[in-house]
Amino acid sequence: MKVIVNDVVAALEQLAPVAYQESYDNVGLLVGNKNQEVSGILISLDCTEEVVQAAINQKNNVIICHHPIIFKGLKRITGANYVERVVVMAIKNDIAIIACHTNLDNMQAGVNAKIAEKLELQNCKILVPGKNTIRKFCTYVPQHYAEKVREGLFEVGAGQIGLYRNCSFNTEGVGTFQPLIGSNPMVGNAGGSEENIDEVKVEVIYHKHLESNIIKKLNSFTYYEEKAYEIYEITNINQSIGAGMIGTFNIPMPPSEFLKKVKKVFQTGCIRYTSLERDIQKVALCGGSGSFLLADAISQKADAFISADFKYHEFFDADDQIMITDIGHYESEQYTSEIFYDYLREKFTNFAIQINSGNTNPINYF
Ligand SMILES: [Zn+2]
Repeated sequence: MKVIVNDVVAALEQLAPVAYQESYDNVGLLVGNKNQEVSGILISLDCTEEVVQAAINQKNNVIICHHPIIFKGLKRITGANYVERVVVMAIKNDIAIIACHTNLDNMQAGVNAKIAEKLELQNCKILVPGKNTIRKFCTYVPQHYAEKVREGLFEVGAGQIGLYRNCSFNTEGVGTFQPLIGSNPMVGNAGGSEENIDEVKVEVIYHKHLESNIIKKLNSFTYYEEKAYEIYEITNINQSIGAGMIGTFNIPMPPSEFLKKVKKVFQTGCIRYTSLERDIQKVALCGGSGSFLLADAISQKADAFISADFKYHEFFDADDQIMITDIGHYESEQYTSEIFYDYLREKFTNFAIQINSGNTNPINYF
């Protein structure tokens, strides 16, 4: 079966919906034609000229990377810097580039779950669960149609709460309407008198990225010409989407042993850390630049916080309460490629999917 670039984009949307990228981010198809047939996929943390060359050599015409090559926008494309050269090279060689960045960071089974898995942390949960990502949908349906509508809403993913699906609340009541001239009412006549109809108010909650599918589904039903529905923003915390992760080791370990383990797992040439006078068992973490989560890690009594890109003064904020463990940005996110690989290999079987074998880390340690 022919697979086009847009099929890959759609598959990634299921893994990490674009709706959950941070406001500053730029994810999705950044370069290329969405209708082009896919010959193969190369996965990389970063998209450099070497990575594009590797894709060309391996006859992979799609590159999926975690960090968006076009981030702040491009005003001209003259090849003056590596970003422009990568874009030119990709376009010249019909290579599509897709980025999946903070939307994957914010997923429960995303970047941070992979880090936790590598460290063999247990009982992991999101460090700072997302807010304003859950909404409520209410619609008013003729009684004999309610089951069909409920099922339709469930089908597109509404009504999922943790490990429970098909959750809804249903109230019976009477709806009224008066069809005006030009309308095509289910009961009564256009220009006729007011009608009463036995209805059910169906209420479901949903994750915000499902909204357009839910409305599309509702409009696919033919019971009313005009569907009545309401959407509510709710402030419930979303336990399955958010920043960072926190988990525990089965057995506490002295700081030196912890550092040794981290160094081995992430093969890092340098760990910058703050000292701590107690054993490490509870660990918070965030792939990439995660210093903004330090206060949350401390307030949840983590013994260590593994992340990257800490500034000098931020290390003071550890304040003998936590071991800041800065392992480097590339090192912390290097296993992200495995998430794409494992996920896409299940979805697509008729072309090669490869992880870039080169190291794109621009930082060396002397
Ligand atoms: Zn990153």
